Amino acid sequence: MTRVCWRCGARTDDDRRVRCDCGEPLWLESDPEAAPDSWPSCIESMWDVLPLLGVDAPSPGDGLPAAAGGTPLVRTEPLDTGGVTLYVKPEGLNPTGSFKDRGTAFGIAAALERGERRVGTVSHGNMAESVAAGAAAAGMDCTVLVPADIADERLAAIARYGPRLVRADGDYGRLYFEALEAGRDAGVRFLNSDAPWRVAGQATTALEVLAQFARTADGEAPDALVLPVSSGGHASGAWQAVRSLTAAGLLDAPPKLCFVQAAACAPIAEAFARGDDEVTAVEGGATIAYSIANADPPSGNRALAAASATDGAVVAVDDPAIERAGERFAGAGLAVEPASATTLAALEPLRDAGVLDDGDTAALVATGRGFGDGGAEVATERVDLSAVDSLFE
Ligand SMILES: [Zn+2]
Repeated sequence: MTRVCWRCGARTDDDRRVRCDCGEPLWLESDPEAAPDSWPSCIESMWDVLPLLGVDAPSPGDGLPAAAGGTPLVRTEPLDTGGVTLYVKPEGLNPTGSFKDRGTAFGIAAALERGERRVGTVSHGNMAESVAAGAAAAGMDCTVLVPADIADERLAAIARYGPRLVRADGDYGRLYFEALEAGRDAGVRFLNSDAPWRVAGQATTALEVLAQFARTADGEAPDALVLPVSSGGHASGAWQAVRSLTAAGLLDAPPKLCFVQAAACAPIAEAFARGDDEVTAVEGGATIAYSIANADPPSGNRALAAASATDGAVVAVDDPAIERAGERFAGAGLAVEPASATTLAALEPLRDAGVLDDGDTAALVATGRGFGDGGAEVATERVDLSAVDSLFE
């Protein structure tokens, strides 16, 4: 599996390398010649679209990795906003409830093919759950590094899969890189958010959306693909997908890639607004969309380049807008975590910026269900069994 730097083009066959000497992340090399020149006839899992990426991919086997992806594309008329026709990709339907299962599936399958038995990750959210679950299903050892101050309910959600849980003191952003290094030395494969195997797996979200659109009546891609951005790994995968499909001649008009951050912690959106091509780390404040609050995103520059290269944008939305969007998702019958609700909240700024217009079509990627995100004050009524017949008086 040759790895190549998206920015300087340097290549390496070192299977353990995740960063280029220039500092930017590597991704698996896509070979348009190796990719099919037609869309798959059926999509039951991510493995049906993965060949479109043209990378050297593992076999999924018949265990948990085979179950990742294959989520539907839902037409959500109640969410249509300002003349934009919307579709939603509910990634909460993955085995552990988030899009992270795609990258994990690729990583676990590739590790198993190499006879590796030890994986790890640096996460306190969806990715931690996903990697711990994938490792448990495959009987692999798993180490999850979490921040020392992790909330109890988050810890419990990860712990149920039985990984080795390590609370880490110090700069959590720095830990991302330290863990990759330590794992490389010790033979533990860290499936961190922008590791090449993970990004290849995450690319299947966009591949699926575009394959699903290709099978609709007019066969055209949506005008925009909107997804939350945190580390930039998923955004990078979407860009890799669009690039490979374009090279294979399958996209006449590629979608604009639009990424959304929470305003309280929006280093990529701020760099985009300034017109920069480098992301500068921010201090970062608290937001209800905590799972995308990454103050120093390891693939931030690549996400920024993806938005620019596709005439897309990176925008930021505040917590009240995210809350309102979450309520609208619920009104459309979809359970999504606040990070996913940002995609709907982004429509207004995207229209204001002229990225989206009346008559456009957009696909929102609802990245996760967010099982643990309750806690709001709930108003209820109460009834005694003897008085049930009076409920609807
Ligand atoms: Zn480079």
